[in-house]
Amino acid sequence: MTATVISLPQQDSVVRILVRAITDRDLVGAPIATGPVSALVPSCKRVGMKVEFDEDTCIGMFQCVAEWDAFEKDKSKGKAVLVDSEEVEEGIFVREVPEDAEFDAKFAARTCPVDAITIYDDDGEQLIP
Ligand code: SF4
Repeated sequence: MTATVISLPQQDSVVRILVRAITDRDLVGAPIATGPVSALVPSCKRVGMKVEFDEDTCIGMFQCVAEWDAFEKDKSKGKAVLVDSEEVEEGIFVREVPEDAEFDAKFAARTCPVDAITIYDDDGEQLIP
């Protein structure tokens, strides 16, 4: 069996398209719903593994860059950069870890010599370090 994993924004788009197709074909008048899927079916929202990167703690050894391509080098600052992350407070960057990158993300966190990378599981429990 082959499973296709799609992100929540993609799921929203798929549901919007399906709802639009059903309403356009079968009903006359306003669509039944065009909101995000999380509003339509709250229980289907996936909260995945998260990674937190502490830029102030980072000393630019770049082991993480070798382990997971979500980390890149910023040689001018002598720090790693967590791609596609959100700065949730000064110097603290967070992003979700795609399911197919969980192994690499954990490895990146384990190889950081100063524990600048923290991994949290789906329930928000700290896994690494
Ligand atoms: S391994 Fe740790 S110290 Fe080295 S660049 Fe990555 S986050 Fe910074």
